[in-house]
Amino acid sequence: MARDYYGILGVSKGASDDEIKRAYRKLARQFHPDVNPDPEAQEKFKDINAAYEVLSDDRKRQIVDLGGDPLAPGGGGPGGPGGPGGAGPFVGFQDIMDAFFGGATGAGRGPRPRTRPGADAILRLELDLQETAFGVEAPITVDTAVLCTTCSGAGTAAGTHLATCEACGGRGEVQSVQRTFLGQVVSARPCTVCQGYGTTIPHPCPTCAGDGRVRTRRSLTVKIPAGVEDGMRIRLAQQGEVGPGGGTAGDLYVEIHERPHDVFSRKGDDLHCRVTVPMTAAALGTRLTIKALDSEEPVDVKPGTQPGSTLRLRARGVPHLRGAGRGDLYVHLDVRTPTKLDAEQERMLREFAKTRGEEVAELTKQGGFFSRMRDAFNGHA
Ligand SMILES: [Zn+2]
Ligand SMILES: [Zn+2]
Repeated sequence: MARDYYGILGVSKGASDDEIKRAYRKLARQFHPDVNPDPEAQEKFKDINAAYEVLSDDRKRQIVDLGGDPLAPGGGGPGGPGGPGGAGPFVGFQDIMDAFFGGATGAGRGPRPRTRPGADAILRLELDLQETAFGVEAPITVDTAVLCTTCSGAGTAAGTHLATCEACGGRGEVQSVQRTFLGQVVSARPCTVCQGYGTTIPHPCPTCAGDGRVRTRRSLTVKIPAGVEDGMRIRLAQQGEVGPGGGTAGDLYVEIHERPHDVFSRKGDDLHCRVTVPMTAAALGTRLTIKALDSEEPVDVKPGTQPGSTLRLRARGVPHLRGAGRGDLYVHLDVRTPTKLDAEQERMLREFAKTRGEEVAELTKQGGFFSRMRDAFNGHA
């Protein structure tokens, strides 16, 4: 809340300059520390002086009349480039809201700190299935801002210091009174001389030009746990961008991208693969050796196995990222029908069909529906 400067001096809002001066002199004599040693009187004397400072200055008094407090932290200052009307013809909506609800004029934002936290960084890391499944220590190259070792983040050249900005008196912002469609408002804008810092760097560090950080390329090793999935991010605390002024580094996120595998497709922690077995093996049953990710698994294909059958090998998938155990490996069986039969094989198959009572019509020589069907299938065999 803005202080009641009129109340402190005991004058009305319409008081003339003379009235204000008289009220101030009277109260100053009464509460001056030389004549009144009471500690409360000292406080009162400070208030009186503040009230007089504000109400005897036309611009500050105008700010008070608009509900602002020119003495609040960040609340205006000695006339700078942003004096009345100096901040351009437009007042942003936020400024207006600030003016009415105390954002800029009452609470005060103050100068913004030179040292601010850094941003997070993200890095894409391509891994193959073997690595995502069982983990890996992957070398990565990181391009980020790091602390400037010449100035340790201060931004100043050796033996020099920051200087208080003369344009804004160190407040980092300047207040102005402007006419808007909502009437007159007080608005605050960052000081253009110091970019709102309230300080300037007369002699910037030659290495970082005052930023307190420099861009550099680093090599790190990131430990990828077993079971990570495509799209997951590994967080490396404070390995991201160092902030302006050497502020605390953000985090580095390493985003996992899993390369497609030649044999296995992955769904969660389960793996899927396709294995082709000849029609005869599917009919008679057989034993296969499946090359899983990290083992060889004997698998029995039962006699009479149909095309599209699936075998499930428990715990031969990807290890779970959290908790023990692994996903499963699903082996999808494609049954292959022979595409080229010599005369003897064909004779035996016809014989076989006959013993099963399966009628197989002979194809006509000039082709026809079945011939076209056969060609179509062959095309996909
Ligand atoms: Zn530096
Ligand atoms: Zn400034």
